[in-house]
Formats: sequence, structure tokens, C-alpha cells
Amino acid sequence: MAAHKTFQVKTSSDPNASSVMLIYTGGTLGMVFNEDAQTLVPFDFEQILSQIPEINKFNFNLTVTSFHKLIDSANVRPDHWIEMASLIEENYDNFHGFVIIHGTDTMAYSASALSYLLEDLNKPVIFTGAQLPIGAIRTDARENLITALEIAAARRDGRPVIPEVCIFFSNKLLRGNRAKKVESAQFRAFESKNYPALATCGIKIDYDFNVIKPFQPYSKLKVYKKMDSRVTILKLFPGISKEAIEAILTIEGLRGVVLETYGSGNAETSSWFIESLHKAIVSGIVIYNVSQCNGGTVMQGRYETSKHLQDIGVLSGRDLTTEAAITKLMFLLANQQNISDAKRYLMRSIRGEMS
Ligand code: ASP
Repeated sequence: MAAHKTFQVKTSSDPNASSVMLIYTGGTLGMVFNEDAQTLVPFDFEQILSQIPEINKFNFNLTVTSFHKLIDSANVRPDHWIEMASLIEENYDNFHGFVIIHGTDTMAYSASALSYLLEDLNKPVIFTGAQLPIGAIRTDARENLITALEIAAARRDGRPVIPEVCIFFSNKLLRGNRAKKVESAQFRAFESKNYPALATCGIKIDYDFNVIKPFQPYSKLKVYKKMDSRVTILKLFPGISKEAIEAILTIEGLRGVVLETYGSGNAETSSWFIESLHKAIVSGIVIYNVSQCNGGTVMQGRYETSKHLQDIGVLSGRDLTTEAAITKLMFLLANQQNISDAKRYLMRSIRGEMS
């Protein structure tokens, strides 16, 4: 891992002030318009206070650490997730919370991945980003970043208010592994159809303690450093050919497939289709069924068109998002000793990702 550029932005004289680490990975939020080059260029975070003077009003300590190479999140790879998780591990004891500035395109994948990699997390890890760069007049960056920092610093009876991985965007705090990017133009870019928002921000931040993961006083953070990329996503559509299905299911070394089915987990019943899936399962490939719908859940066996999937050993991903399903597969296939343990965990919630 290349060295990170780390610097203290703000120090509070209050000995009880919270300390927050901001991890800057790239994305639109941290870009400014360069008049000479006439392009968007990464923002120098050492000038953060001049762009967001409001930060001075907060009573907390703020440290910023930047990825060595800032990235558009379309370039995120599992190595970047390991880098984020490692940064949190190294700094876990010195900060009350973490904010990760990340591009919106793959933020839901990264937030899901981090939720799995950080087992027994007891501090806030808040992803945020923006639809417009911080230098733009109508930017959403300022509001998103300021509130994400406030949430990461928030404590109640000395304990962090949010002991989990979240996405804060456009006044909603969403559980990271429940969120999905649904919009590329409007400011409200993320949605969590199957789980309520953990907080809604108006003139104050309204936390919903009924849905926030409870703080675990005796748990200790365990950080995993492996993800298995020998997986894929297979989205069904009416007319998908046998050749396409077989080409995917016979990829050399393939270990897991997220199968995006229709409605409540339904798929066509043609014998060639079922046989291809069955052959893959028998050869040891895990097939994990999630719906193409953003809301609702897979219920294998409800219709005849999903009963055959159940019968051949396709696993139900219930109400998982595709982002949370593919990263869960990558995580479990890399970190479980054997396939039957991985399957056991696939069928239940391990980080609040499924109902
Ligand atoms: N392409 C950008 C990224 O994901 C978009 C954004 O930041 O919103 O990094």
C-alpha cells in the first residue's frame, strides 16, 4: 500500500471533543474547476477550511488522510476496499468516527464491502460524496460532508451514536449494505427500499434508534483483508440465450454467481436453463438469487417459476441489493474455510444486510 498523505486540519482545545478521521479516496465531491485547464481536478484537501469554513464551528478534532492516487470510483477494485479497511484498523483506537469521501458510482458496493470486512465494528464509518464538486455554486458537497462529519463525531452517553457502516447523502443516513445508487442527475442519489433510514436530517439530525445497530460494549473489531473476485452477476432478461448462460456458468475458476431474477425471485422454467444452473451447482458454484426489483424480497417457491430454483439448490438472497449480494459472495468465498460454511452465512444476515 502506498503511503498516505495525512494531516491535522483542526484541533479542539476541549479535552472531551470527538476526533474524526476523514479518508479521501476521490470522486466528484473533491474536485474543483481549474480555470486554466478548464477541467475538474482533484481538490487539495489541505485547503479544506477555505472551501468549507463552517468546519471551524465544530467542536471536534479533524484529521484528513488521502489515498495516494485519487480515483473516480468507477476504478474501485477490491484492493481499495482492503486499503480503506486497513486505514480504519490502523487508526481505530485514535478516532471516534470515520468519514470516507468516495465517488457515488460504486459507493454502495464499497459501503457493502466495508460492512463485511469490518466485523464487530463499534464506530461510525460514514461514506459520503456529491453530485456536484465542492467548488460549484449549487454544490451538494458542503451539506453532505458537513453532516457526515457531524454524524461521525456524534456520541451519546460517551458511545458512538452510529456503530456501523453507512452512506450519508442528501439528508438521509442509510445503512451502507442496504443502499443503492438510483439517480445520476438529481441530488437524492441513494435509496434503501428494504430498510428504513437510520437518520433524517432537517433542522436537526433525527436518529431512529429502533433501526440503528446497537452498540456492543464487549466486541472487538476484526478486520478481514481478503475478497474473492472469482464471481459474477448474471441478469436475466426474456430471450436470454442458452449460449449466454452457458458461457457465463462455465467461466474458468468461477466460484459464485449472483443471479438477478424477476419479481419475487422468478426465472424461466425451460429445461436447458434449469439443467445449466444445476450443472453449475453440482460443480461447486454457488448461485445466489436476488431480485431485479429494488424493493421486496425473493421468495423461492412462491411461484412455480421459482420453485425449481429452490429444488436445485439456488440460494435465496431474500431482500439483498445486488451490490450487497456480490460483495457478500466475494467476502464469504475468500474468508470461509469451506463452501458449506459460506452457504450457511449466505442464507442469513451477517451485518444487517438482509431481513
Ligand atoms: N464518476 C464519479 C465517481 O463515482 C461520480 C461521482 O463521484 O459522483 O467517482
